[in-house]
Amino acid sequence: MNKFQELGLNSSILKAIEDMGFKSPSEVQEKTIPILLDEDTDMVALAQTGTGKTAAFGFPLIQKIDPKSKHTQALILSPTRELCLQITNELKNYSKYEPSLHPVAVYGGASITEQAKQIERGAQIIVATPGRMQDMIRRKLTDISKIEYCVLDEADEMLNMGFYEDITAILSHTPKEKNTWLFSATMPKEVATIAKKFMRNPVEVTVGSKNMGATNVSHEFYLVNARDRYAALKRLADANPDIFSVIFCRTKRDTQKVAERLIEDGYSAAALHGDLSQNQRDLVMKSFRTRQIQMLVATDVAARGIDVDDITHVINYQLPDEVETYTHRSGRTGRAGKTGTSMVIVSKSELRKIKSIERIIKQSFDEKQLPDGKDICRV
Ligand code: ADP
Ligand code: MG
Repeated sequence: MNKFQELGLNSSILKAIEDMGFKSPSEVQEKTIPILLDEDTDMVALAQTGTGKTAAFGFPLIQKIDPKSKHTQALILSPTRELCLQITNELKNYSKYEPSLHPVAVYGGASITEQAKQIERGAQIIVATPGRMQDMIRRKLTDISKIEYCVLDEADEMLNMGFYEDITAILSHTPKEKNTWLFSATMPKEVATIAKKFMRNPVEVTVGSKNMGATNVSHEFYLVNARDRYAALKRLADANPDIFSVIFCRTKRDTQKVAERLIEDGYSAAALHGDLSQNQRDLVMKSFRTRQIQMLVATDVAARGIDVDDITHVINYQLPDEVETYTHRSGRTGRAGKTGTSMVIVSKSELRKIKSIERIIKQSFDEKQLPDGKDICRV
């Protein structure tokens, strides 16, 4: 009997888990799944990025939903379109032996009528960004008055992105009698407020910092003059020819500029940011996922929650404004038990920030020298 069986999951999910190659549950899964399956309860679960939160709510949700009934029984809110698509795909994988179950993704930048049609055909689970969901409700294209489960995924990030009002408005269209499951990497006070306001006696699950996300990532910084950032990035790329990396910039403009320069200089790179069309973003993500692109230059918003396996390096081309954003960035690597490196290119005036990040991640940075001479294979 494997450990997933002991959690109380049914045979069709266990079979899907076997197909996906998951050998044993992660810590957050072990702690949440039995409770969510057994009890009708609200829950707040805190665990770092990359610890398997999607399955932690996805498995119980799939098992509890009635696939025979076509009405919408669950709503999952998540911060970005990429994440919506990703969660929807995962749910489809989890429920592949339950073919009458239909999760539908609802997000901006794609046809709302097409999404409404899919819902009309019967969507037991809607996975939505708050903005588009609000639109859907306003236009009466969806009915969430009978949902039994509401999942707030990556709650900290949704609130960071300013979705508080949308979330509140959406929840006001849901019945009082439902279970709300809130998943988050961090617990800033806005998340605590939401929990207090919309949840009843939630069971609290916290996965300690010893989880797989944190300890597999080593953190390094490279001190450079601000004007040498790009040169430093190239040296780091040159010294790691097999790099498969997400490079974070602070603005869409910098993201676009850095990607263009890398491409001009002969590197395998692409930009991902909110000014691209949905179609372009999907294409970029596909090329990255399939390793046609080695370096994805992205804004925090665009890269949010993206789950691509085996990212070797996260490079902070610039540090984020919010210290907590760093946790999300570095969580792109070192996933599912693998190791990874999070590098920061930093100028003297930003050194202070490194100290505050160290306090948050409870790990220290190694100060490294930029590779040169024989370390570099491209000139
Ligand atoms: P989070 O939402 O906590 O950031 P995800 O749910 O996106 O994390 O999962 C991170 C990665 O770990 C995904 O690639 C997922 O397929 C994988 N994963 C999740 N659970 C397991 C498990 N029990 N065993 C192996 N891999 C897993
Ligand atoms: Mg997640």
